[in-house]
Amino acid sequence: MNEPLNQPPNERTNNLRLAVVGAGPGGYAAAFLAADLGIQVTLIDPEANPGGVCLYRGCIPSKALLHVAKLIEESQQAKNWGIEFPVPKIDLSRLRGWKENVVKKLTGGLGQLSKQRKVEYIQGRAAFENSNSLRITKVDAGETTLTFDRIILATGSRPAIIPALKLDSPRMMDSTEALNLEDIPGSLLVVGGGYIGLELGSVYAALGTRVTVVEMLPGLLPGADRDLVLPLHKRLEKMFEGILLNTTVASLKEDGTGIRAKFEGQSVQENNREKTFDRVLVSVGRKPNSEIPGLEKTQVQVNSRHFIEVNKQLQTADPAIYAIGDVVGEPMLAHKASHEGRVAVEAIAGHKVAFEPNAIPAVVFTDPEVAWCGLTETQAEKEKREIRVAKFPWGASGRAVTIDRPDGMTKLIVDPQTERVLGVGIVGAGAGELIAEGVLAIEMAALASDVAMTIHPHPTLSETVMESAEVFFGTSTHVFRPKRG
Ligand SMILES: Cc1cc2nc3c(=O)[nH]c(=O)nc-3n(C[C@H](O)[C@H](O)[C@H](O)COP(=O)(O)OP(=O)(O)OC[C@H]3O[C@@H](n4cnc5c(N)ncnc54)[C@H](O)[C@@H]3O)c2cc1C
Repeated sequence: MNEPLNQPPNERTNNLRLAVVGAGPGGYAAAFLAADLGIQVTLIDPEANPGGVCLYRGCIPSKALLHVAKLIEESQQAKNWGIEFPVPKIDLSRLRGWKENVVKKLTGGLGQLSKQRKVEYIQGRAAFENSNSLRITKVDAGETTLTFDRIILATGSRPAIIPALKLDSPRMMDSTEALNLEDIPGSLLVVGGGYIGLELGSVYAALGTRVTVVEMLPGLLPGADRDLVLPLHKRLEKMFEGILLNTTVASLKEDGTGIRAKFEGQSVQENNREKTFDRVLVSVGRKPNSEIPGLEKTQVQVNSRHFIEVNKQLQTADPAIYAIGDVVGEPMLAHKASHEGRVAVEAIAGHKVAFEPNAIPAVVFTDPEVAWCGLTETQAEKEKREIRVAKFPWGASGRAVTIDRPDGMTKLIVDPQTERVLGVGIVGAGAGELIAEGVLAIEMAALASDVAMTIHPHPTLSETVMESAEVFFGTSTHVFRPKRG
């Protein structure tokens, strides 16, 4: 159990000098907490303000655009409710401007918070001189070498590149370029059916692009439970021009009118072996930024997957250096990075802590959203672990029907012996908000009966969590189960 954080700055933290390299959600969360604990903090990042990938070219701009995509989709669905809107006119430069403003507002806010906490913010890139010294090349010219007692590496990750799909063409995009929204292409090939590809594909599809997704595995969102992916797959089949599973892109070539893609795989027929696209988005995963200059002058260890190795206190093999976030491993998610950042700082401050969460939520912000935490059914099967699964279909939820979104499901994964909730999975509108209750249930070691006995407000989608626990006991109000025998 971690110690509470209400300890005042002590002598130890007052005299400590800490550098945090990288100001993403891991780095700035760490720097801010360290300052709150009385540590002298220097935060280093090439951008003008903290934010990292998450705010500048990840979570935040993508969610701003997905919000717009949802609005467009809903305005079309409104036909079913007797309200018809004309086809939306899209002012791309205004849309881009709005998204950029969202980023500016949030990163500017972080800059303010940084100043208020008296964090020394250096806009530049850091390289190691030794385990305690960093040479910082400032963005506005000049170099400085600074010495610290402890250093936290929070250098994040970047889009992975498949050498065979490297093509020097302005039509090629990674996630950063796709978020720039230079134009609305007529057609787009998304290589990779993971969450980034599906989220960005959904944005372009809503804006009017004909989107094709190609995934080499047999299903979208590899790793997620199949029953959670199914409703999303069905909806995406309507939104996208094509979803090619068990398929790889053998080659990409610029052919004057676009990029000609050659496909290979079981489901590829003679007539769809090749196709030309206006643009191609490659979203095949992310690579940790562990090639920090001078790292070899320290004792930090990097593993075969290029992640920096850390223990449960996020300390590397070098006692003066800690590492957090995407650069230390999966899941590469902002909230995991922030939590690790806080644990690392507490460890540095001498508190008794460890990073050992029972549940890290994952959310795919498509429409419907897919979210899960704790144990998944897929994982339980792999581990041959005995579980019981209780599912509540959203067709039986009053709230889901009022918003015309019965295409959802909430499920609990329960330990049959102890009846403890081990995992929660949700697919449906707003699943990303609902999953937080699952995380709390798992962290608090809730039993299915705790969830079932907690009064949830009506009519809300949150009731589906309570009712899935009732399903576990065979007593769900809105799901009739005939008695056996
Ligand atoms: C399109 C997209 C959508 C995403 N959506 C979500 C989402 O909805 N939810 C979610 O949880 N996650 C999402 N992510 C993932 C999320 O952005 C990352 O998990 C998160 O940003 C990782 O945080 P971090 O602090 O480890 O590093 P990062 O955010 O990657 O920040 C690292 C920072 O370190 C800087 N840096 C690197 N090397 C140096 C150096 N030598 N010196 C100084 N600075 C350096 C980098 O420039 C960068 O600013 C998304 C990612 C992408 C690309």
